[in-house]
Amino acid sequence: RQPIIAIDGPAGAGKSTVTRQVADKLGLLYLDTGAMYRAVTWYVLECGIPVQDETHIAQFLKTCQIRLEPQGDSPQCRVWVNQHEVTQAIRSPDVTAQVSTVAAFPAVREFLVRQQQEYGAAGGLVAEGRDMGTQVFPDAEVKIFLTASVQERARRRQLDLEKQGYEVSLSQLEAEIAQRDQQDSTRPISPLQKAEDAIEIQTDDLTVEDVVSQILSHVPS
Ligand code: C5P
Repeated sequence: RQPIIAIDGPAGAGKSTVTRQVADKLGLLYLDTGAMYRAVTWYVLECGIPVQDETHIAQFLKTCQIRLEPQGDSPQCRVWVNQHEVTQAIRSPDVTAQVSTVAAFPAVREFLVRQQQEYGAAGGLVAEGRDMGTQVFPDAEVKIFLTASVQERARRRQLDLEKQGYEVSLSQLEAEIAQRDQQDSTRPISPLQKAEDAIEIQTDDLTVEDVVSQILSHVPS
């Protein structure tokens, strides 16, 4: 079968760019699971449901259909929720601030993990997220854990946001990233965690090309 490559790590570690390039080089599907959690969060906010209201959110999932499609050579997929294109909207500071709360609910994770595993059952893929190597694809052929310092991750996020027209200070981004990491790594269900058999790559001083070639060197031919 074609390989499954699981790439996990904290916010801003460079997962999207690297994952997209690895997927392209291998001719495999690129699965951005963060975009799926963001899409659900966008829907919750759009429907005016309080983000703390797990029961209400669980009921609304039935009417939330998410579709991802690769776009050109952008690291970001195009994303739809029902008939709405939310590619840009899911990157808004509002969604970013709330996504970790929504992603911690078991009903939300069950709903999305099932869809992620269906993609994996259909063929090889390169998937990025927080629990790819631990929960979603525990039998993945290659598991990678990407890290970088909070300062470096805030700097990268600032560049990304600038491209999208948002201006946010480095100190605010550092605080937000640290808070999201804390929330993602301490939740009781599927926390951000390095799988025991994952290869850790610290990316502070590496270029995207370096990271991509390191990952490719671990893929069985
Ligand atoms: O990677 P990205 O920043 O787009 O992820 C957004 C949020 O979605 C993360 O902070 C995390 O709360 C959640 N997430 C998750 N599990 C995944 C992917 C993302 O809980 N597999």
